[in-house]
Amino acid sequence: MAINARAKFDLIILGGGAAGIFAACNATGKVLVIEKTAQLLSKVRISGGGRCNVTHSCFDPKELVKNYPRGSKELLGPFYNFGPQDTIDWFAKRGVKLKTEKDGRMFPVTDSSETIINCLLKEAEKLGVEIRTRTRIQKITKTDEGFQLDNLQTKKLLLATGSSHQGHTIAKELGHTIIEPVPSLFTFNVPDSPLKELSGISVPAKITLDNFTQTGPLLITHFGFSGPACLKLSAFAARHLAEKKYRATLTINWLPDFQLEQIKNANPKKQLSSINLLPKSLWKNLIGPLGEKKIATLSKKELQQLKEKLQNDSYEVQGKTTNKEEFVTCGGISLREVNFKTMESKICPGLYFAGEILNIDGVTGGFNFQNAWTTSHIFGYSF
Ligand SMILES: Cc1cc2nc3c(=O)[nH]c(=O)nc-3n(C[C@H](O)[C@H](O)[C@H](O)COP(=O)(O)OP(=O)(O)OC[C@H]3O[C@@H](n4cnc5c(N)ncnc54)[C@H](O)[C@@H]3O)c2cc1C
Repeated sequence: MAINARAKFDLIILGGGAAGIFAACNATGKVLVIEKTAQLLSKVRISGGGRCNVTHSCFDPKELVKNYPRGSKELLGPFYNFGPQDTIDWFAKRGVKLKTEKDGRMFPVTDSSETIINCLLKEAEKLGVEIRTRTRIQKITKTDEGFQLDNLQTKKLLLATGSSHQGHTIAKELGHTIIEPVPSLFTFNVPDSPLKELSGISVPAKITLDNFTQTGPLLITHFGFSGPACLKLSAFAARHLAEKKYRATLTINWLPDFQLEQIKNANPKKQLSSINLLPKSLWKNLIGPLGEKKIATLSKKELQQLKEKLQNDSYEVQGKTTNKEEFVTCGGISLREVNFKTMESKICPGLYFAGEILNIDGVTGGFNFQNAWTTSHIFGYSF
């Protein structure tokens, strides 16, 4: 729908997602949010399996930034200004309590993303923010006073359009460089994986792909591999893997602390298959025919073979699958062109950015929303 009514605003926000609405909740003056679809906060709704993983219980900015393959340097200062504790407090002040799960992920106690959506929309309403959905701006021009968006005038313009191509195009037209977008947070396809029938087994492992290494739970799937270690590795290697067309050798160390003595010291009369250093079916699969042998009869060469299989096991990755739980885009507005004290463009005065439109992305666990809350709050505060 095109906007006909002439109107003047202090701020127009393009994008009614987490970053856009949170920015509206933290700005002052006459504010308008324009969302091209019929729904506001649609990713918040589906996030965290409908529970919304709002943030992560990591309160040291220096530790927190390690979870951002892109943006870690730039987010350090902003996290001192508005970090996970500030997110917790912001929602608590508005009656929304968050709880922490064992792995550090934080969710509303209601386990429903609607709680977050209702809180944000109620706050925006309280502040008198005007919101127009199903609205597309056709033309944006820079003026002496700010910006002209079709028939609308605004002093300041915030682009919070996520990974959308349209947002990138607008930024480009206003002078910005776009780092080519590629997917992040995906799982690895290993066609004909000999472990397929073990789908569902998850073990802590150390995985390596070219120069990238991650340690953590690794999940065997029907397609190949998933789980936190794999998703983290996919995030840090996102651009590298895109360049390699998602083909690479993945090396798995199933037992990072394993010493051959563990086997040598076991009862020599026992069969190798009976000592189960991993879940039974995985152990059996990895040790293969050697499992039939009594430990005492294993030759030096066989022991070395075993060590190689357990600690340097390799698989050919031949593609990726989107992780349904959470995915983000690596790429976006070049961070060198943004002032992280205000989120203002260094190229086009009066233009601001927040959220995933920036070349910032985190691993899974609530870090991507924290980027949206932080950059939007920094903007709102400076406004
Ligand atoms: C399935 C899924 C689950 C996720 N779960 C989590 C989670 O639990 N925790 C976490 O931290 N992260 C999660 N993420 C990532 C997180 O959702 C994003 O990082 C976050 O939503 C980014 O917020 P944003 O406002 O920058 O962008 P978005 O949420 O993408 O919002 C951008 C908005 O701008 C609108 N828009 C685009 N172009 C225009 C235009 N030209 N004019 C007007 N409007 C426009 C879009 O329609 C959209 O509504 C998940 C992502 C997915 C896909």
